[in-house]
Amino acid sequence: MQHSRGSSSRDPEGGDPAAASSTPSPLQEIVIADPVEMLLEEVVEETQPQGLMYGSSMRGRVAIVTGGATGIGRAIVLELARHGVHVAFNYFSYDESGEMRAEAERTAREVAQLEVRCHHCECDVRDSEAVGRFVDDVLERMGGLHILVNNAGIGRDGALWRLSDEKWRTVLDTNLTGAFHMIRAVAPHFRRHHDGKIVNVSSVHGIRSEFGLANYSASKAGVLGLTRSAALELGPSNVNVNAVAPGYIRTTRLTSGVPAEILDNARERAVLGRLGDPQDVANVVVFLCSELARHITGTVIPVDGGHLL
Ligand code: NDP
Repeated sequence: MQHSRGSSSRDPEGGDPAAASSTPSPLQEIVIADPVEMLLEEVVEETQPQGLMYGSSMRGRVAIVTGGATGIGRAIVLELARHGVHVAFNYFSYDESGEMRAEAERTAREVAQLEVRCHHCECDVRDSEAVGRFVDDVLERMGGLHILVNNAGIGRDGALWRLSDEKWRTVLDTNLTGAFHMIRAVAPHFRRHHDGKIVNVSSVHGIRSEFGLANYSASKAGVLGLTRSAALELGPSNVNVNAVAPGYIRTTRLTSGVPAEILDNARERAVLGRLGDPQDVANVVVFLCSELARHITGTVIPVDGGHLL
């Protein structure tokens, strides 16, 4: 673009400018396009990314990870903390056992050992007011917010003709509406500061379904649509929005809730011949949260060992 600037009155060949006007030259086309290019340059200037600071680009930033007490969310929380990011995470207890609180405290203790700040609390992502309070609380306690990872998610599987309204709604409300609540709550802050990274945890089942997953697949496909829309609307404010689509990942939820036969099939289907680890997903999420991925937005990265091939 620079070459069109200030060169409009000069003949590039050094000849007669009048002669040049008889046959349109490539330069004239550039001159005509100049106002458009100026406009484009202004837009580009407005969305300039952060400078690349290799190795330390994330240190001191603040992240929210939903559902960060266990499984993939926990691995993301810890990996962000290893990169010097202060982390807030939430969880939600569906029962009175206190088990989730204990898990959350265990994760928070590990984060504290990495010498970053950590805040955790119970917050149901289905409840938009609770989400608003959680985000405000994080902003006040941590003094800022730069990263949101929408990881909280559940499955309530069943043949679609037997799926109750409750199972349909709970899964859609948690996996899709919960992510929307979070993005809507952080968007004003990210837009004001012209800075932000959002990563949504979808699933290979948001791309290709299997029997009994109508509610889960619909929610995770919805997350991909939400990712594209949010990327489109927040991109001009220098906010990157992407998704990851994990295949079968070895978490307690998976190994305790999914029959061994399905896990064996999943292992065979992945061309790498194995299930993934939570750390495999965390590595990609943290990459997407970093300035190394500053020119990636609105896309989905499968982390599935080749399951979708
Ligand atoms: P986990 O159950 O360990 O993690 C999910 C987390 O979300 C839990 O901490 C859970 O808390 C929390 N959560 C659930 N409902 C809510 C809610 N309403 N409000 C706030 N937090 C909530 O499972 P995974 O680590 O396996 O899953 C993490 C994400 O990865 C999910 O979105 C899942 O769909 C996705 N995924 C997982 C795959 C896998 O193979 N494991 C494959 C593809 C995608 P609690 O336990 O108290 O309910």
